[in-house]
Amino acid sequence: MVVVLMGPPGAGKGTQAARLAERLGLAHVASGDLLREAIAAGTSLGRQAQVYVERGELVPDDVVVGMILERLGQPDCQAGVILDGFPRTLAQAEVLDKALASRSGQVNAALELDVPAGVILERLTRRRICRDCQAPYHLEHNPPARSDICDRCGGELYQREDDTEETVGHRLQVYAERTAPLLAYYRQRGILRRVDGAGEVDEVAERLARALGTGAA
Ligand code: AMP
Repeated sequence: MVVVLMGPPGAGKGTQAARLAERLGLAHVASGDLLREAIAAGTSLGRQAQVYVERGELVPDDVVVGMILERLGQPDCQAGVILDGFPRTLAQAEVLDKALASRSGQVNAALELDVPAGVILERLTRRRICRDCQAPYHLEHNPPARSDICDRCGGELYQREDDTEETVGHRLQVYAERTAPLLAYYRQRGILRRVDGAGEVDEVAERLARALGTGAA
């Protein structure tokens, strides 16, 4: 099973993809997390990606596609994946389809998290991320028990360079121009479901599970 989780930056993709993956026993593959890990490790891929990520621009398709296809070949992805932040362009979606088709697979569902623009800015500028395990926190709605320390792994929390007000505005524009057209691509294939992403994390998780037909009380 392959599920694509879409939505603008700050829609809650990372938090919800992690929940959904756990609930369905699928791997959570987040392109942004993989890029940040490569940047932190100083790999050649990380060096190619760094300027784009810091400016809120899309990393070139060939760099991201190679990274994701390699990840999808790993054993934990064989039962299926929740893709978070990928694909982000039509070209990426087409390569993904071809790669899945060559393994007799396909994208089974695309879920769009719909969140009002005003909520996004507040979510992103108050967001903190764990440097080690990338767990996301929000200073008011989902604060860590000890300030600046990750509850899950004890890592240091930090604010992403691209979560500043100025860069968030640019990322939203990039989403509208380059990624939003993908919604029509999945809609035409009858696999797009729009889900209200406002409200508590648990409520949104339940809506997503229901949209996939796996809701459980
Ligand atoms: P995210 O953590 O999903 O918000 O991604 C952070 C940044 O990583 C984005 O602003 C882009 O610079 C880069 N990025 C993540 N996924 C992709 C992708 N599929 N295509 C191109 N760039 C990406």
